[in-house]
Amino acid sequence: MEVEIATIGGYEEVGRQMTAVRAGDNVVIFDMGLNLSKVLIHDNVETERMHSLDLIDMGAIPDDRVMSDIEGDVQAIVPTHGHLDHIGAISKLAHRYDAPIVATPFTIELVKQQIEGEEKFGVQNDLVKMDAGGTMPIGEKCELEFVNVTHSIIDAINPVLHTPEGAVVYGLDKRMDHNPVLGDPIDMDRFREIGREGVLCYIEDCTNAGKKGKTPSESVARSQLKDVMYSLEDYDGGIVATTFSSHIARVKSLVEFAEDIGRQPVLLGRSMEKYSGTAERLDFVDFPSDLGMYGHRKSVDRTFKRIMDEGKEDYLPVVTGHQGEPRAMLTRMARGETPYELDEGDKVIFSARVIPEPTNEGQRYQAEKLLGMQGARIYDDIHVSGHLNSEGHYQMLQALNPTNVIPAHQDMKGFSPYVELASNEGYELGRDLHVTKNGNTIQLTE
Ligand SMILES: [Zn+2]
Repeated sequence: MEVEIATIGGYEEVGRQMTAVRAGDNVVIFDMGLNLSKVLIHDNVETERMHSLDLIDMGAIPDDRVMSDIEGDVQAIVPTHGHLDHIGAISKLAHRYDAPIVATPFTIELVKQQIEGEEKFGVQNDLVKMDAGGTMPIGEKCELEFVNVTHSIIDAINPVLHTPEGAVVYGLDKRMDHNPVLGDPIDMDRFREIGREGVLCYIEDCTNAGKKGKTPSESVARSQLKDVMYSLEDYDGGIVATTFSSHIARVKSLVEFAEDIGRQPVLLGRSMEKYSGTAERLDFVDFPSDLGMYGHRKSVDRTFKRIMDEGKEDYLPVVTGHQGEPRAMLTRMARGETPYELDEGDKVIFSARVIPEPTNEGQRYQAEKLLGMQGARIYDDIHVSGHLNSEGHYQMLQALNPTNVIPAHQDMKGFSPYVELASNEGYELGRDLHVTKNGNTIQLTE
């Protein structure tokens, strides 16, 4: 059977991930993501109303025109997890394919919300839920399987397309977490089994390939956060925390430790309400029944007023804005645009790392400076990455022992540390290690 890979997006950047695998006449698409930084760099771009081709020209969504060169029928569109760089283009591209969107329940719910917010295209694709461990037939000879992985968002999987020529394992995004705060540990047993059955190709997320050692578990970030928050138990002023809204495990830790130190947690900001509300509704997390979540500006400001009236020392607002995004809650607080007043010595906890990208770095710098001008003290970097470091990459290569490897989720520069480590494992550039760009196809078997 002919097996061919189309590397459509996310092979020259982090963002707008999209890869298609053709096995015989059947095609499966993995991810359809958005490169948010290409959108945010323009003022006031509302992607909801934009046409796909304009977004492709901006470099914001994958240029899927290469799909017309792929001779086969798309049988499924499979987003691996709910991060925008993996699902953010579904509302702009999925309607061009007569295929269901297949994903885990949390991811499907986020896809559904995104489709509902779309104003330009009517996306009618069926939404099919499949849990980690689940399988579905693709054509007569292939099978799609979801393997449970751990990442900075719940319900993440690595999809595997089993073909008569061996498995194609799509390895974006994960870290090896044996002690995640929410959900099951990464299913290494299944990866090893698939490795013994035979892997034709492994497509790997190279984000942290240049970092030594092992990515720490989420339980490490949790205990770091606990240490910081317990140390503030006697502080009688304002404490504010921020983290990735989609990082439900982290939000859960913030909520728990707030209560432990005698403060009422409250989640503020549109995306805080969206992700945590969705996770709670789908029973992925058990929040206290009286946990407030407010997204709309009016209800947020009302909550801030209540906090100021009743006393900042009794609350822990968990807000959006960990990257200093200009319109996020923490940035508004820093600019003094909310009723919440920061006083000299108040604490701001960033349970996040700055995404190393000039726009983020600049915005975050500005937000921190503004917070500092109001007297706030900053706790930084209470975070662990969601991506494999180099030792995790070695372990995956050893577990899967793939015939071919395709580095992804980076640009050319970001691929180089991965190329080095894969070479140490015996792979050779141009032979079985395929460094590629957006819009290419790689023929694996004839
Ligand atoms: Zn991700």
